[in-house]
Order: sequence, then C-alpha cells, then structure tokens
Amino acid sequence: MHQLTLAKISQALADKQFSARELTSHLLARIEQFDPQLNSFITVNQEAALQQADAADAQRSAGATSALLGVPLAHKDLFCTKDVRTSCASKTLDNFIAPYNATIVEKFNTAGCVSLGKLNMDEFAMGSSGETSFYGASKNPWDTSRVPGGSSSGSAVAVAARLVPAATGSDSGGSIRQPAAFNGLTGIKPTYGRISRWGMTAYASSFDQAGFLAHNAQDCALLLQATAGFDERDSTSAQQPVDDYTAALAQPLQGLRIGLPKEYFDSRLDARIGDVVHSAIEQLKQLGATFVDISLPTLPHAVPAYYVIASAEASTNLARFDGVRFGHRCDDPKDLEDLYTRSRNEAFGDEVKRRIMMGTYALSTGYYDAYYLKAQKIRRLIKNDFVSAFKDVDLILGPTTPNLPWHLGSKVNDPVAAYLEDIYTVPANLAGIPGLSMPAGMIDGLPVGVQLQAPYFQEARMLNVAHQFQQHTDWHAQAPAGF
Ligand code: GLN
Repeated sequence: MHQLTLAKISQALADKQFSARELTSHLLARIEQFDPQLNSFITVNQEAALQQADAADAQRSAGATSALLGVPLAHKDLFCTKDVRTSCASKTLDNFIAPYNATIVEKFNTAGCVSLGKLNMDEFAMGSSGETSFYGASKNPWDTSRVPGGSSSGSAVAVAARLVPAATGSDSGGSIRQPAAFNGLTGIKPTYGRISRWGMTAYASSFDQAGFLAHNAQDCALLLQATAGFDERDSTSAQQPVDDYTAALAQPLQGLRIGLPKEYFDSRLDARIGDVVHSAIEQLKQLGATFVDISLPTLPHAVPAYYVIASAEASTNLARFDGVRFGHRCDDPKDLEDLYTRSRNEAFGDEVKRRIMMGTYALSTGYYDAYYLKAQKIRRLIKNDFVSAFKDVDLILGPTTPNLPWHLGSKVNDPVAAYLEDIYTVPANLAGIPGLSMPAGMIDGLPVGVQLQAPYFQEARMLNVAHQFQQHTDWHAQAPAGF
C-alpha cells in the first residue's frame, strides 16, 4: 500500500481494495518503525488520523466518491493546525497550539483527507538542509549520512521513505523544489498567490508560497486542484480563475517551445547533473518539444538580492515572537527589555538570529538605500528577464540544484556556501512565477532533479510536461533501498 501514488490510493479506496483505516494504520506503523532513524515528523496524529480515516470510510460506505476522501497526507509544521502543535521547528513555538486551521489545511480536511501529522523543517523555513530545526536534522533516505535538503526537509523525507504518499511544503526560495530534487520526488511551487497563505506562518511574506511534494505530476495536479483559488483572508491571494490541472496532463507536447538559459550551464553546475539535464532534454525532444537558447542575464544577482530581501522581511515577521504576543518567555525577567532580549536569545537558533540581524541591518537608516532598495531594483530586473524570456518560449528548463545532497554537517559552519546552493531556485520566487522539480536521473545512487519554470499561472502547462516526461521515464517511481 505504501508504494502507491495518491491517484492509485484514491482509486483503490473507491474500489474498496482497502479501507482508509487499514491504510492509515499501515502508514502509522511505518512511521513508528522508520521515523526514529529519519526524524521526518515533529508530531504524529495517531488518534486523530484514525478518527479521520473512520469518518472517511463511513462517508464512502454512504456513497461519497470525492477523490481525496480518506487519502493520507502530512503537513509541514508551519501550517497552523487547530488543536495540534504548530512549532515551525523552533523552540519559541515548541508548545504553541494554533486556535485555527490554515486555509490549505482546512481545504484538505473538507476534502476528507487524513492528516498523519506535522513534518520537520528548517527553523521558520530558513535553510536548505533541514539542519536548522530545533528538533534535529532529518536524514535523506537515499543515504542517511546526507542532508535531505530544505526547508521542507521532513516533507521530502516522509514522502520519499513512503511514510505518507504526499505532503504540503512551502517554498520561498526553493524549499519545495530543492528537497524534491534531493529525494527523487516531484515538487511544485505554484505562482505567488495561487494558494492562500492564510495560516501559513510568515517567513518572507513576498516570497512565501505553499505547494506540494509527491511522487509524480499527476498527484501534484490533484493536490493543487483541491487548494488553488482566491481566499479573502489573504490579501495577496490571486483572483485568477483556477485551471483544470488534471485535464491538462494528457496534452501532447508537439509545438512546445522550451528555453534553456545559458547562465544555468556554467562552471557552478556539477557536470554530471548537466548530463542528466541534457538527457531529459533529449527525452522531451522525442516527445515533440523544441529547445531554444535563451539568456537570463541577472541570474548572478539573484542569491544576494534574495537573501537581503528575505532577511529584511524575516526580521519584521519574527518581531512578533517576543515572549509577550507569541513564543517562549524567559524566566524571571528583570524588566521589559530583559524579557524581550532573553526570550528571543534563548529560543531562536543561530540561522534565525543571523537573518534577523542581516535583515535589521539592511533596513536600518543609512543602509536601506544601499542594500534593501538596491535588492528590490534587482528583483524587478530579474522579473523583467523572465517576462521577456517568456515572450519567446512557453517554459524554461534547467537543473534544480547545482550539486548533489551534501553530507550532514558539512556546510553548517559556512552559511554562504549553503546560500549559493539556491542559485537556480530563488529566481522564480523573486519573480513570483511557478516552478516544478521532477526526478530525471541518478548519480552514485542519489536522485537528480530537473526544474521547469512557467509564466504566471501556467501551472497546468508545467504539470503537463512533467506528466508526459513521467509517462516515458521511471525515475519518479524509484524508491530508496529499504523503504
Ligand atoms: N534555502 C532558502 C533559504 O534558506 C529557501 C528557503 C525557503 O524556500 N523557505 O532561505
């Protein structure tokens, strides 16, 4: 059962091959067996999950047929879940129980999904290795001495290890696509504003976007269908009509024009990953796509612009964790300042502190123009690069990451080295366009991802191409040994 995709699970539940309770119990037992080694869950909803499964089974017996009824999922631990801890993998929220559900969680509950629990992540989604979590790093099931990527580390590990068929994630600079690439999964970051941010704890509000990690594009389409759309509680949520993502999967690729940015294929890229990308290009050519060389000249400035703006936004978003309004409070404060200072100092990890300091600095008088304002100008240029590239091509293809998953601990003391690993993923967040990573090969037993990027709200086209690729390859179907 645990090897099935979401679409197959949905079919099997409809055909009564097994019940939602049987499936949920089976996955809970797998979590108990494997998660002590992988550390992908922060909280497991043992009892509530079985109750949701029973309710779904009862509805199916009464004739209900909706696709996600009884389908198990798990959520990144920054989505607010009523009555269940939402920690953002931070000590400051270690005992925080949200009084409401995030819109995305509510939509899945209404669809009848079973929530197995809350998944590990980098603290407040700051990181690309999973190692900044207060609850300890998650391990990559393909090689447990390596990082699973981040910040949606637990989401990727739990899906890759077949503990849950799909999971929610969030992507502000690559946090869905990069761990998807490192774990042999398909991960989609929709257009900024496509899925409501209501109830998703803010890290860098103008980048944050919810999305999914699953085994294939078809499953991503199902999940996006259930959650995309306008939400009046999120002022940045898009009014754009929602496409039929599943119907679009079957479209042939004849006539499709895909751009290859020359800046993606330079010495930063591990040449072996370059070879994987080129084999994906060959495959897509056989399916009818045409490739066009393009240029995104501002690419080299994307990482510094992202880290300045994201840190600035983080520094203001995290001001609310002051021990008064939210978060851990220190013992016996001498006065108000002592309360703020010690509460925050005791409860934030090093990476979060580093970003609050960088962000506060970039926003301070005298430095605002030199850093924050300049980064915003670069952001606009990056957006313009994409807009003009998309006048000529339907999609852009390239690697998701420049390198393979690194060894746990190897970049912990070199944050800039870790930041530079985000080179191919942050541009989509700076521009707000959608991106998807799909498995396209293996190097030394480790999965490699290829990234597709599309114009605003063209998720359907991106899913279509990934689906057609997956009809002719089986990289997405491979499981790590032992899982
Ligand atoms: N790795 C990036 C960072 O550390 C992206 C994080 C994210 O997308 N949440 O900020």
